[in-house]
Amino acid sequence: MPERRASSAESTERHVSVLLPLPLTGAYDYRIPPEWNLSPGDFVVAPLGGRKLAGVVWGDASGEVAATKLKNLAQHLGVPPLAAELRRFIDWVANYTLASPGAVLRMAMSVPDALDPPRPLAAFALSEAGRAALAADDGALTKSRRRVLRAASEGPASPAADLARRAACSSGVVRACATAGLLDAVDLPRRPPQALPDFRRAGLDLSPAQQEAARELEILVDANRFSVTLLDGVTGSGKTEVYFAAIAACLARGKQALVLLPEIALSTQWLSRFEKRFGAPPVLWHSELGHAQRRDTWRDVAEGKASVVVGARSALFLPFPDLGLIVVDEEQDLSYKQEEGVIYHARDMAVVRASLAKLPIVLVSATPSLETLVNVEQGRYRRLHLPARFGDARMPEIRIVDMRRNPPERQRFLSPPLVTALAETLDAGEQAMLFLNRRGYAPLTLCRTCGHRLECPNCTAWLVEHRLLGQLQCHHCGHAEPLPPLCPHCGEAKSFVPCGPGIERLSEEMTARFPNARLGVMASDTLTGPRAAEELIRAVEAHEIDVLIGTQVVAKGHHFPLLTLVGVVDADLGLEGGDLRAAERTFQLLHQVAGRAGRAERPGIVYLQTWMPEHGVMAALMQDDRDRFFAIEAEQRKAHGMPPFGRLAAVILSAPDDAAADFAARAFARTAPHLPGVEVLGPAPAPLRVLRGRHRRRFLVKARRDVNLQAVLREWLARVKVPGNVRVQVDVDPYSFL
Ligand code: ADP
Ligand code: ZN
Repeated sequence: MPERRASSAESTERHVSVLLPLPLTGAYDYRIPPEWNLSPGDFVVAPLGGRKLAGVVWGDASGEVAATKLKNLAQHLGVPPLAAELRRFIDWVANYTLASPGAVLRMAMSVPDALDPPRPLAAFALSEAGRAALAADDGALTKSRRRVLRAASEGPASPAADLARRAACSSGVVRACATAGLLDAVDLPRRPPQALPDFRRAGLDLSPAQQEAARELEILVDANRFSVTLLDGVTGSGKTEVYFAAIAACLARGKQALVLLPEIALSTQWLSRFEKRFGAPPVLWHSELGHAQRRDTWRDVAEGKASVVVGARSALFLPFPDLGLIVVDEEQDLSYKQEEGVIYHARDMAVVRASLAKLPIVLVSATPSLETLVNVEQGRYRRLHLPARFGDARMPEIRIVDMRRNPPERQRFLSPPLVTALAETLDAGEQAMLFLNRRGYAPLTLCRTCGHRLECPNCTAWLVEHRLLGQLQCHHCGHAEPLPPLCPHCGEAKSFVPCGPGIERLSEEMTARFPNARLGVMASDTLTGPRAAEELIRAVEAHEIDVLIGTQVVAKGHHFPLLTLVGVVDADLGLEGGDLRAAERTFQLLHQVAGRAGRAERPGIVYLQTWMPEHGVMAALMQDDRDRFFAIEAEQRKAHGMPPFGRLAAVILSAPDDAAADFAARAFARTAPHLPGVEVLGPAPAPLRVLRGRHRRRFLVKARRDVNLQAVLREWLARVKVPGNVRVQVDVDPYSFL
């Protein structure tokens, strides 16, 4: 910050702007108390209203508020400053997503008490006087004090409770010894020092193709400038081993590395591979961590003590002081898109952070997103290719089951060819996986007498029966209720019929068909916490489970050598609704699921049950022709000016009732931009017309790539007077069109 020179005594006082982690308009000015030395990025405590809040020095004061009205900053916190790179990143994300910078800062300051100095652990060690008293053995010590001193002489400094336990007395005796000068009080760090990943350890022997890719990545890491690389390799080609080499190179340069993984809580196999490779675990960051762990981790990252962080999308906002590499594994995964609060895509924003911090980023996938492939084609990203599975493993054979010719029996969902394949697999002592991307028992329950469908009271959505829980659930708002005894419409008893399968119903069918097969069910709601996932994965690895039935969580990078058969129960499911990326997403998901089969010596077979065998997605999967499929997709998107060839943003209005929603939608429609290269579609009732009791309308703004979409949106929003009961959400680069 440039020093301000002024002649009058009053203006020699210094001011700064401070950004607070709140959804306010921007940074506020404050007066710096005399004698303080502040730099941008420093963490400070500032008064706001009646409160005191931690924030970050953002830059020079704006001067918009008269100096006499400014308040003094309250405290300068002893945390390493937020790096300039991260501050620029926060401003960039705010500008791009139309969120307030404070709302973005809040993601970087998600554990406020991590800013407080870590409290040391009070411990006690034998003092000189204590040693002398113990040696004197003259009866001056009580028996319990003697036991305490002996315990203290036998180990390192320990907390009072520890010593008391070892001496079989109360901690009062320990404190009394300290007061008497027989023990010295010492401060211990709260946590034992953690082992760090060791980059010097040798990795696996890489195949020539892996070696070449690893070498390229090491060169990029050493170059220490911005670059984007797509590590593109079929499932099982060893992409993980290859980017481990890049992490090792990053650690060798003394820098920190960040790895983003989707579904980090399910990544136990990844974690044990990492630990084997580097001799120590990485630092974890995801929403299921306890508060204390998040606090310690945030602090360790800020102090540069965490060398490798692996996390969910929010890890992107951690305060690394010296990041040297970002890896985004499964870069096409939809869980990188945050749909609430600040709406952003973590893969895209990771590329932005890498560019601002001038460091290499590696995007990893077997089925990259169309966006990424186009960036490769246009020369913005480089691509490293691993064309074959590692070792003797071959890609699985894919067979299409035409459900029109091979329908399952009534109220059953597995076709005869798949049932036969399951029987053969089980007979051979191998494992199978059934994939159905639907939780619960049945997606729809209706009354056979009057046709009434059970719907959510808060959303335009059917209630999904969860038989194991004895509940109907809304998958959009979480509403749950027991199955009513009578039809609420016609009053008929015992008249409900489930329609369609969820994974619970599928496991019922499997139990009926294969009573001796050991089943495991894996869905986000059947796995309560990371432990459960870990246990299930272990059970599959140990062959305590014959058939794993699951939703998309089974598609993630698991490696089960005995798994030779994958059955996709409803390959068409993702094509319903038909939004922009339906085909792309279905291809990616099914390819990923298929990739679980035959990953070791035994070859794999995949059955895709479909009612549309002629659909381009099915043909591409069967012929293993990803590039042609994406070429056709890209052609279509280009013809319609859709992303990545054009830009999209959604504006979603929601109100407590239909009339208010319509009223707001008309106000937005009247002021909608009329500009060359910009097209505003809507307002239309959202497919989820009512969500959590709020009535919703959508606009879709489509623009040419050369249009400054954010500026257009900002001007539009500024023109509308939004009633207090209407909420406006802007989703730049939308992935969900509900
Ligand atoms: P991908 O991430 O491309 O799907 P992985 O990295 O999971 O592939 O590798 C698939 C399997 O092959 C893993 O079990 C991995 O340990 C093994 N593997 C890959 N490369 C090697 C190698 N060079 N030496 C030994 N095993 C390897
Ligand atoms: Zn609902």
